Amino acid sequence: MDVQIIMTIVFCVVCIIMVITIISMSGSRGMSKMMSRTIKMEKNILRDNEKDLKDISTRSAKIEEEAIKIKAKAVKDGLNDSESSVYCKHCGALIDGDSTFCKKCGKEQ
Ligand SMILES: [Zn+2]
Repeated sequence: MDVQIIMTIVFCVVCIIMVITIISMSGSRGMSKMMSRTIKMEKNILRDNEKDLKDISTRSAKIEEEAIKIKAKAVKDGLNDSESSVYCKHCGALIDGDSTFCKKCGKEQ
């Protein structure tokens, strides 16, 4: 669905560019009529798909927002982890900051 809309818009733009090129070369009145008709057609297509385009933008924004939230949470969790964890004074293993003995070597901190 999304790809179809994008393809339609791209097709319209290509059509207009082609028409403009033909008109600039020929300059005939018939071509001008054709051009205005093509522009009208493009306007109609854009108007018909306006809702879908808005939906895509809204959805993209929501996904982006969600991604930022997940990233922010991950960073926060990472910081919390580094705050609550310490390295063993004897063997260098990563252990909980509040633990009295090392999980790996068993020595007192
Ligand atoms: Zn240790």
